[in-house]
Amino acid sequence: MKSLEELTRPNIWSLAPYSSARNEYNGKDAHVFLDANENPYNTPYNRYPDPLQIEVKQLLSKIKGVAVENIFLGNGSDEAIDLPYRCFTRPGIDNVVAIEPTYGMYKVCADINDVEYRPVLLDEHYQLSAGKLLAACDDNTKIIWLCSPNNPTGNSLNYDEIVKVITGFDGLVVVDEAYSDFSRQKSFRCELDKYPNLIVLNTMSKAWGCAALRLGMAFASKEIIGIFNKVKYPYNVNLLTQQKVLEALKDPFEVDKWVKMLLQERTRLIDNVRMLNNICIEVYPTDANFFLVKVTDAQKIYDYLVDRGIIVRNRNRVQLCKNCLRITVGTKTENNELLAALRQY
Ligand SMILES: *Cc1c(COP(=O)(O)O)cnc(C)c1O
Repeated sequence: MKSLEELTRPNIWSLAPYSSARNEYNGKDAHVFLDANENPYNTPYNRYPDPLQIEVKQLLSKIKGVAVENIFLGNGSDEAIDLPYRCFTRPGIDNVVAIEPTYGMYKVCADINDVEYRPVLLDEHYQLSAGKLLAACDDNTKIIWLCSPNNPTGNSLNYDEIVKVITGFDGLVVVDEAYSDFSRQKSFRCELDKYPNLIVLNTMSKAWGCAALRLGMAFASKEIIGIFNKVKYPYNVNLLTQQKVLEALKDPFEVDKWVKMLLQERTRLIDNVRMLNNICIEVYPTDANFFLVKVTDAQKIYDYLVDRGIIVRNRNRVQLCKNCLRITVGTKTENNELLAALRQY
C-alpha cells in the first residue's frame, strides 16, 4: 500500500479542520454551557449533538466487533461513499475502478467529484476477477469499489478473490456490505487489522429497518477514520437520528427475527416465481433481501405491475442485466399480492 499521505488529496492532508465548541470542550464535568451560542431554552433540541456520536459508536462497537476508533458514522452510506472521493481523489487527475454492474452511487459520486470512473465487467456468474480489476488500475487509481452481496445482482463476491484485490492493490479498497446482515459470508470488517487499505461499509437502512433515519457506517484504520472526521460536516448525524438509532441498537433480537422471516419469504417467493413459465427465465443466486430475475420482457412486466400498484426495479438497461427485474422481499401479504398479479399476467 502507498502511504496514506501519498493517497490523500494534498489540501486534505494539510487541512486544519473546523473546531467546534463541542470539540474544544471535552470531558470534565460542566453544567453551564455558554460556548456555542445556543439558546438555553427548548431542551434537548437547543444543544448541538455529539459530533463524533460516541454513544452510538460504543453500542455499535459491541454489535459489530469493531473498536470505536475504527468507526465512522455518516448521513447514510451516501456520505461514506462520497467522503473517500473528497478525501483521496484529485478531481480531473485521479480515477477509481469498480465492478460492473453494481450500486449506482459510486459512479454518481465520481461524476460529482470530477473523477474518472472505470467500470470492470463481472463474469456471466456476476463474479469478479481480481486480475481484471487490477489490470484496469494505473498510478492514479486511488480507490477500488466492491459490493458484496452485490446490488443489483444479489450474490456475494468470491471471498478469496476480494482478498486478492485488497492485497494486490496499492490504493484503498472499499467493500460495501450493506446487505451482509442477510448473508452467512464472513464480514470483512473483522479483517481491518490485516488490511490497512480496507474500508468496509454497513448501513442501518436494510436489515435494521431504519432507512428514514439515514445512518451509514464506515469501518477502517483509525488513520483513515481520522481523515473522514476531519472532512465531514461537524454535526453530520443529527440528535433525533442518534437517539432513534440507539433505541434500535438496543433491540438486535428484533432484527434477527426480521432477517429470519425475510430469508424464509425469499425462498418461498423465488420458488413460486420460478414456476411462472411464461415469465421467468432465470432467478440468480442471492445473499440479500432481494433477488434478480431474468424475465421474458422486463419492460412489459414492469409496466403491468405498476398498473396494479406494485413497484419492482427494472434493471433492463443495466449491463449484464438485460430483461432483469430486481425484486425486494416484502411481507408475506405483499409477496402474495405480487405472485397473484404475476400469475394473471
Ligand atoms: C441500499 C444500499 C446502501 C444504503 O445506503 P444508505 O445511504 O445507507 O441508505 C448502501 N450500499 C448499497 C450497495 C445499497 O444497496
